[in-house]
Formats: sequence, structure tokens, C-alpha cells
Amino acid sequence: MEATKRQKAKLDDKSTKDDYKCGACLKVVHDQDNGVMCEICNNWYHCKCQGITEQLYQILNQYGAELHWFCKGCQMGANKLLALLTRMQTKVDKLEEEITRTRSDIRAQMNTNFQQLTADLDKLCHRCDENDKKVDEYKSEMNITENTKTMLESQTISNKCELQEMQKKITRS
Ligand SMILES: [Zn+2]
Ligand SMILES: [Zn+2]
Repeated sequence: MEATKRQKAKLDDKSTKDDYKCGACLKVVHDQDNGVMCEICNNWYHCKCQGITEQLYQILNQYGAELHWFCKGCQMGANKLLALLTRMQTKVDKLEEEITRTRSDIRAQMNTNFQQLTADLDKLCHRCDENDKKVDEYKSEMNITENTKTMLESQTISNKCELQEMQKKITRS
């Protein structure tokens, strides 16, 4: 509430009568009339034209600096704006909820992926270990084969020697 009749009086000298035409009945709001100014459209109104009771008018007069008064037309617009704001707030709330849900979904998905990756890595390491073992086994098998080969060779050599010895004996006799 920017101005009531009391504050209006101060402006009288530099304003024309048209400035005080009631926004509802279009008649001048005189100094002796109870009148209020809408804070949004800056129009003056007779209290009776806006259904302002004497009691409310006194309160507006008394607490003019702290109170806001809008004419019925502006009040309707303000209500629409308020409804729009409420709808927007609901949308924003829903969006925030969705963002929070998506964020935790992503986090859960990442956790699952990470666990899967760790398990895969473990499996791979295990397979590497098994391969190492197999290589060791092959190596020792190859050693055994090598030993057998050496043994067989030396056996063959000693057999040859024996054979030569026998041949010599036969030749001598
Ligand atoms: Zn009026
Ligand atoms: Zn207004």
C-alpha cells in the first residue's frame, strides 16, 4: 500500500484532478473521500467502489508502509501469477526429484559395472595363473622326456660296446 488519502494530500499541488479518478466509477476521489491507491496499476479507488470496509481503511492508513493493497483487477492478475508460480514450483520439484533419482540410478549402474569388471579381472588373473601352471607342467614333462632320451642313448652306446666285445670274442675263437 503506497498511498492512502493521507499521503495523497502531499501530491495534490503537482497533480491534476484526473490523477485521482476512481479506477472503478471514474469519478474523482476527493480529499474528503476514503480512497486508496493500487500498488500495481497506481490507480486511485473509492473505498466503497472496492468494497474496503472502514475498519480495513483505518488499518491501511495506519500501516500503509508495511501493507500492500491491490485493486480487484490487479488482484485477479496476481492470483493468476501466483497459480502459475505454484504450477512452476511443482514442475521444478518434480524435476529435482527426477534428477536425484537419475543420479542414484547412474551411481548404482556404475557400481554394478565396476563389480562386474572386478569379477572379470579376477577370472582373467585366475586363468593366467592356470596357464603358468600348465607351462610349468609342460616344462617338467619335457625334462623327463629329455632325461629318458639321454638314458636311452647311453643304453644304446653300452649295448653297442657289448656287441663289439662279443664280435671280438667270436672272431678270436
Ligand atoms: Zn469509485
Ligand atoms: Zn490495480
